[in-house]
Amino acid sequence: MATFEVEHVVPSGGGGSSEVENLAWACGRCNRSKSDRVELTDPETGATVTVFDPRAMRWRDHFAWRGHELVGRTPLGGALVEALGLNSARRVAIRLDEQVLGRFPPPDDG
Ligand SMILES: [Zn+2]
Repeated sequence: MATFEVEHVVPSGGGGSSEVENLAWACGRCNRSKSDRVELTDPETGATVTVFDPRAMRWRDHFAWRGHELVGRTPLGGALVEALGLNSARRVAIRLDEQVLGRFPPPDDG
């Protein structure tokens, strides 16, 4: 069973509020991987980018599925895929299993 944690998009230690506009559900691995970072490095360009904000940004603008792997459409997307290890072998294996169950790819939720 998957469990989720409340993630501060802008970390509370960095002045982020605990209002709902700054909170998102995240799995524990993503929450720990992001930690208190507000900027990431795009592995392809070396550019410093902000962390994806699921409250203010549209997922489809920054990410796309390529088979069972998640890819960035933008430096911001690519940086998050790399920083959170979103194409780890375990995660790709889970997507393969989810596909068998009709749950992958997920519906486009914006
Ligand atoms: Zn996660």
